[in-house]
Amino acid sequence: MAAGFQTIDQILHADGVALARIADTCGTPCYVYSSSQLDQNVEGLKSAMRRALPASDQPLIAFACKANSNLGILHHMAGLGLGADVVSGGEMIRAQAAGIDPARIIFSGVGKTDEDIEQALRAHIAQINIESAPELERVTAIAQHIGITARIAFRLNPDVDAQTHAKITTGKEDNKFGLAAQDIAPLYRHAVQRRFVDVLGLSVHIGSQLTSLEPFREAFSKTAAFARQLVADGLPLRSLDLGGGLGIVYDREQAPCLDGYASLIRELILPLGVKIILEPGRLLVGNAGLLLTRVTYIKKTSTRQYLVLDAGMNDLVRPALYDAWHEIRPVVDNATNNELYDVVGPVCETGDTFARDRALPPLQAGTLLAIMNAGAYGFSMSSRYNARPLPAEVMTRNGHFRVIRQRENVRDILKEETIPAW
Ligand SMILES: *Cc1c(COP(=O)(O)O)cnc(C)c1O
Repeated sequence: MAAGFQTIDQILHADGVALARIADTCGTPCYVYSSSQLDQNVEGLKSAMRRALPASDQPLIAFACKANSNLGILHHMAGLGLGADVVSGGEMIRAQAAGIDPARIIFSGVGKTDEDIEQALRAHIAQINIESAPELERVTAIAQHIGITARIAFRLNPDVDAQTHAKITTGKEDNKFGLAAQDIAPLYRHAVQRRFVDVLGLSVHIGSQLTSLEPFREAFSKTAAFARQLVADGLPLRSLDLGGGLGIVYDREQAPCLDGYASLIRELILPLGVKIILEPGRLLVGNAGLLLTRVTYIKKTSTRQYLVLDAGMNDLVRPALYDAWHEIRPVVDNATNNELYDVVGPVCETGDTFARDRALPPLQAGTLLAIMNAGAYGFSMSSRYNARPLPAEVMTRNGHFRVIRQRENVRDILKEETIPAW
């Protein structure tokens, strides 16, 4: 278990706060984030970079907001000196509202709208990552129209298999992301001659929850080779954005070694002498969050025992979407795991299943459980499916907790809708 969460007298705590206290005050389901664990995760990455790279070549760490874009989390990241990688106009506004310096904001994604692009230019963000020829045309036209220089990088699709779940692979030739090297070369040459366009370099991001360093090695090698070719052709190159993708331990997988990752950067990227950008998401928030939930019913059939929780796939979709495995712990843990349960939510979908045949202690209705490692792609992927209000979010620090998102209620949701008076 991550150090931000502790078992004290058999009771699960977050930064010294008993989870039952949070459940009593805020209800369930509720996301709980440990700020000390966030600190530790960021420091872990920074210190690996400090060990591998000279002080003058430390990377810009742009936290991938889509992993967890709560303002409280983003503000905490800003306080740790991080920038942001955003993939929508909404995330850009969130990052700015949280106090992240626009000079540290990177805008990625395949479908930026005209409004997104103009908003990014007017905010003078650090870099827009270009993912297609028509997008380059659109960015150039808007920059010239409003007279603000667009700082851009081209997202390279290196055709590397990230060896992760198919739904979170982004760097294969047949994925929608990025451009092939042979397609970037003419666009790059063309873009450097355009007014109001400043071409900074390349970006690459091959997927998420990578557990092996090999795909990174392959992607960084290909990126470096292509960067060398651009420079040899007399083109300017000032930055390389290496994306995110570092995996965490959910079950028994081996997480990639950060020192090994940093060494790859030293070996393959540092010699190019450019500014280095990293975009980690999951690595920084994944193990710093849990989803606190209560057992609503124990349902027994002739063949199975179901734990029906008050949290569902609308709160945490990863098991349904990616077949993801999450550790599930009783908040009060004083018995042996000698029962097998199927752990399910209340949503009317068979996919609303958190675990099958999970060994847990004998439990009762009303018991509090923690679904661990839910800090990344948890709340940020939640929905109101089945008219279920969005859960609360809480942050802990030194024996205290603060609500960083109020639980929604159904009245709030209904207010957004209108019955047409034809
Ligand atoms: C999602 C994403 C990231 C972050 O990925 P993680 O696996 O959470 O580190 C970084 N860069 C881009 C462009 C992304 O789309």
